[in-house]
Amino acid sequence: MKFKYYGTASAIGVPGLFCDCENCKKIKKIKGKNIRTRSQACIDNKILMDFPTDTYLHVVNYDLPLTKIHSCLVTHSHADHLYEKDLLMRDERWTFLEDTTPLTMYVTNVAEGKINAINCPQSRIVTKAIKPYETIDVEGYKVTPLKANHDSGTDPVIFIIEKDGKSVFYGNDTGRLEDEVWEYLARTKPYFNFVNLDCTMGLNEKPDVAGGHMCLEECVELKDEFVKKGYANDNTLFYLTHLTHDCPLYDEFQKEAEKYGMNVAYDNLEIEF
Ligand SMILES: [Zn+2]
Ligand SMILES: [Zn+2]
Ligand SMILES: [Zn+2]
Repeated sequence: MKFKYYGTASAIGVPGLFCDCENCKKIKKIKGKNIRTRSQACIDNKILMDFPTDTYLHVVNYDLPLTKIHSCLVTHSHADHLYEKDLLMRDERWTFLEDTTPLTMYVTNVAEGKINAINCPQSRIVTKAIKPYETIDVEGYKVTPLKANHDSGTDPVIFIIEKDGKSVFYGNDTGRLEDEVWEYLARTKPYFNFVNLDCTMGLNEKPDVAGGHMCLEECVELKDEFVKKGYANDNTLFYLTHLTHDCPLYDEFQKEAEKYGMNVAYDNLEIEF
């Protein structure tokens, strides 16, 4: 499987769109892996994960093959994961496509409502409703949405994606996993080759009550629990993403993550496993 990160920031982007804090000022100067666009990824150039505001940037800067992609899994309706207005650009009036297969958006309720409201012709954009814990087939991949611990008004899910004995846990946006997710994992006993985790809160202290995102300490606890329960082992790749503007710069954060056997994702990073 090939997993490619196109965007690795939280909603505000890194540097923050309207931010001149010390970190953002530094990032605007040194750039490199510290520049982060809104979160998007793609598996095997086939299964697109989310459709954020920065999808266009990913096409022009990182060669995201959007005209050839026909399946998009949407985690939730926040604009940094679903910028539905850009889907209208797939209307026949403005596109020449060699392959005119519609783009299917796999969505929960709130996201489906947002996409239907733009009235893009069904010949170009189709929605398919998904539900937590109901596994579906997407172009030969087994896809299972799980409930995310995130703004409940957005009907959020995270995903397990499996094919040919390889398995990905796509865990953003979410805070610490809900009991029902742990129960599902206990029932199904998965093994993950690749784990993508929400580390928006960076080196912040772990909050008493789980929020809609995680910090490094929460990600480490999740990893330990996965290993303890056999869902992951030393061969499993753990990557942290959806970072915000006051997370440490890449080099520093990567050193910190490595102490716990994890890596920090960055835009345009491709991983094969
Ligand atoms: Zn987000
Ligand atoms: Zn800032
Ligand atoms: Zn969100």
